[in-house]
Amino acid sequence: MRKAIADAYRCGLLGLNILDSGFSFDLEVKEGAGGYVCGDETALMESLEGKRGEPRIKPPYPTVVGLFGKPTVINNVETLANVPSIIAKGADWFRTLGTEKSPGTKIFTILGDVQFPGAVEAPMGTSLAEIIFGYGGGIRGGRKFKAALLGGAAGIYVTDTALPAKMDFDCPSVYAATLGSGAVLVMSEEASVVESLYAVLRFFEHESCGQCVPCRAGTKSLFDLIKKVRARQGAREDLDRMIKVSEVLWSTSLCPLGQSLIMPVKSAIENFPDDFLSKAQ
Ligand code: SF4
Repeated sequence: MRKAIADAYRCGLLGLNILDSGFSFDLEVKEGAGGYVCGDETALMESLEGKRGEPRIKPPYPTVVGLFGKPTVINNVETLANVPSIIAKGADWFRTLGTEKSPGTKIFTILGDVQFPGAVEAPMGTSLAEIIFGYGGGIRGGRKFKAALLGGAAGIYVTDTALPAKMDFDCPSVYAATLGSGAVLVMSEEASVVESLYAVLRFFEHESCGQCVPCRAGTKSLFDLIKKVRARQGAREDLDRMIKVSEVLWSTSLCPLGQSLIMPVKSAIENFPDDFLSKAQ
């Protein structure tokens, strides 16, 4: 990125009076402090201002009061990367890709028990089956498909009934909500959803910024409960409690980090009850 910006300045495509147009524009790379919560735009701005990466209460929204109190537009890299080709080839060309309501392409990160893990750019509306068995080459070692975690750590665990689902923002099912990052974590019949949820909850307990009580205490409580279940010391009530705690997080947390935990917790327990009940006492 730094090299691309330096090249653009050298060629006169950035800076003062670009190509004698009278238009001036600067680009600069600023590194934040890191942290999952900095995926929240307001936490990202706090971090860029040199403060702790903690989400702000909205409103005001960044377009009104953003970085250093100025109106700020924030988009992710994938969105910005679409802009040059739309300008060069037009919106109609862009609309020939993907679906009517979700035009264009999406980067899908395929990982886990697939033959060919990696990132692929596919049209919006590509089915989950095509992503896993086409681009991903199917399940490694000739095993059977068991589950996929869609949309990253705060996504949804799905069974094979989701394989025909079209991956786009227009998908009428619950899967659309989890397209998110485009991550597709594939699990074979040998994988344990309990182990996977344990890793997810350990991550969130660590990444909670601690600013609001429901998330600070709730992520800890969820991690304690999954540890208990994983160690075969849990009971059926602990699973109900995990869903209850994540529902409280959903309705009371300040930012999407705490709010989104309901998705992996509920989908894992409801879609893969055998994995959990075999461990419950
Ligand atoms: S929900 Fe969690 S990550 Fe978000 S502000 Fe509250 S404590 Fe921080």
